[in-house]
Amino acid sequence: MSLTSQSGFDYVIIGGGIVGLTLAHRLKALAPNASVAILEKEPHLAEHASGRNSGVLHAGFYYSADSLKARFTSQGNRLMQRFCDEYKLPINRCGKLVVASEPGEVAGLEELKRRGDRNGVELHWVTIPEMEKIEPNARTIERALYSPTTATVDPGKICNKMGELLQDGGVKIFYDTSYQGLEARNCLKTPNGSMEFGYLINCAGLHADKIAQDFGFSQDLTILPFKGLYLKYSGSRPPVRTNIYPVPNLENPFLGVHFTVTVDNTVKIGPTAVPAFWRENYAGLSRFSFTELIRIGFLEGRLFLTNAFNFRKLACEELRKYDMRHFRELAARLVKQFDSAGFTQWSRPGIRAQLLDLKNDKLMQDFVTQGDAHSFHVLNAVSPAFTCSFSMAEYVVARIMHLTRRRNTVECH
Ligand SMILES: Cc1cc2nc3c(=O)[nH]c(=O)nc-3n(C[C@H](O)[C@H](O)[C@H](O)COP(=O)(O)OP(=O)(O)OC[C@H]3O[C@@H](n4cnc5c(N)ncnc54)[C@H](O)[C@@H]3O)c2cc1C
Repeated sequence: MSLTSQSGFDYVIIGGGIVGLTLAHRLKALAPNASVAILEKEPHLAEHASGRNSGVLHAGFYYSADSLKARFTSQGNRLMQRFCDEYKLPINRCGKLVVASEPGEVAGLEELKRRGDRNGVELHWVTIPEMEKIEPNARTIERALYSPTTATVDPGKICNKMGELLQDGGVKIFYDTSYQGLEARNCLKTPNGSMEFGYLINCAGLHADKIAQDFGFSQDLTILPFKGLYLKYSGSRPPVRTNIYPVPNLENPFLGVHFTVTVDNTVKIGPTAVPAFWRENYAGLSRFSFTELIRIGFLEGRLFLTNAFNFRKLACEELRKYDMRHFRELAARLVKQFDSAGFTQWSRPGIRAQLLDLKNDKLMQDFVTQGDAHSFHVLNAVSPAFTCSFSMAEYVVARIMHLTRRRNTVECH
């Protein structure tokens, strides 16, 4: 669609990932007469995190009860499963086990169970024989946790279906059209011309912090990209039929190397959380940015020296995972038998748009949203934002309606 034929839109959303798409869907449901446009810098939807994630619909037991993640995950899981059923999109309701590899990790399982109970999530203790009925190859100490509502989906298919429905409903999607700054208060620049907007919603994933800064938000926040690499099983006997996760370190937002069974029953191990050097640092020098390298290199160097949030240990442990042998050893701890020779192919990596709070050098654990009567910014849409997206969209659109009713107020969460 050409920009020149368009004068302006009531709502302009930056970003054609799952967050921008579900927000557009919710806006159209509540304000069917409003004109809505999505600007996407890539030639198609879901080129970044939304098309490069593990595809797991999480159940919601990792997060502390007061968090937005706890509030959105279980409802988001149900809504996304319903969407897949309604549009006949593939879904693998294969559940998930969380196992302890050492006696010291059993306390971690207990904490997850407590969080699950507080968040109202269905999560069961299983004995070793019960666990073996679910997954004969899983290995644990004493007992394990079983989550029946965890499922896997095809994230790319979901985004494309959503794009199709939005266009049928009158939402305009402009591809190859990046937001390049503001020309005037209600007019933005793109390489294809300028566009006027009544209200701007920023769902730009890895670039959301910079865009928010143009609107006076995200002043003490910056995105620190972490790369997620996977190894895909290519042998003849898939090692597992359910997702198997270790007990995570709840001090940081990553879940550790685990087994994922995708919708087509492919098995992957990963993802890593390796500090990346520029925002779209997927492989080699592709999408290289010198200014980002300087900025992110400086930040990572500082975190390494000060060892904030144990960054030194995290970075060293994660960098070791480039060694396939070590990567496979971490996964092998979760199962009885592990066919190392079957895990030799890297699959498509993803990069987390992880927010760092510059005031205290801490990684933000929860989703962050900021906005006023003129614009709204979804920051730190890290995992499980794919699972949460429908539910998060309800929340964000309600906030926007509230803010635009009461002009001149500013809100940060
Ligand atoms: C390795 C990995 C594994 C994950 N696993 C899971 C999982 O199993 N389950 C789960 O629930 N979540 C998972 N997540 C998290 C999930 O993928 C993300 O939270 C979610 O996809 C975020 O969606 P988004 O729309 O905010 O971002 P994105 O998908 O990154 O979309 C942002 C869009 O904005 C566009 N954009 C950026 N800048 C501009 C600009 N200037 N102009 C126009 N467009 C712009 C980008 O091109 C992009 O398409 C995972 C993430 C990663 C990286």
